[in-house]
Amino acid sequence: MINIVLFGKPGAGKGTQAAFLKSQYKLFHLSTGDLFRYHINSLTDLGMLAKSYMDKGDLVPDQITIDMLREAVNENSDAKGFIFDGFPRTTAQAGALDTFLFNKSMKITATIALEAGDDVLIERLVNRGKTSGRVDDQDEIKIRNRFNEYNNKTASLKSFYTAQGKFYSVNGIGSVEEITKRLIGLIDGLL
Ligand code: AMP
Repeated sequence: MINIVLFGKPGAGKGTQAAFLKSQYKLFHLSTGDLFRYHINSLTDLGMLAKSYMDKGDLVPDQITIDMLREAVNENSDAKGFIFDGFPRTTAQAGALDTFLFNKSMKITATIALEAGDDVLIERLVNRGKTSGRVDDQDEIKIRNRFNEYNNKTASLKSFYTAQGKFYSVNGIGSVEEITKRLIGLIDGLL
């Protein structure tokens, strides 16, 4: 079983690349951002709660996010493996994920960071905002707040996974195809 965590700042290309890795390795793509947006569109209580954080570019509280993630994994327990996209984003989430997977005799194979500079990322997000309809992509103040959340709460996961010998970086600048090739090269080398 392969379980990959795709790691990186907003706009790094996690969702785009997850779609390719999903078909390459027959994995289940699990994006907490997509799950929250699904709840928002379905007008659930969870969606309304998540929206109040997401629209500002703040992280949704850990327990809500962890519970939703656990449920999604349990609902897809026949999967050959998972791509976690946008989760974990805090050390509490990373710890909860390790414990949860351990109890299911599963583990993270690798955490792969897609690296790109802030200027490139802001340009990508502003462009995406023109068509995505995402409130959090449409305003540079919200985008900057998402980067602050990343720097304050998520960046430290690099040392969390480095300590486990599971952290890898990939250059996230280039064409989508080039970056997919880099990721596949890395993952194939780990199998
Ligand atoms: P994304 O689609 O990954 O860019 O996520 C969009 C928004 O959903 C984030 O800015 C957060 O508000 C929320 N979100 C997604 N994943 C998480 C997570 N693991 N922890 C907390 N909030 C999250």
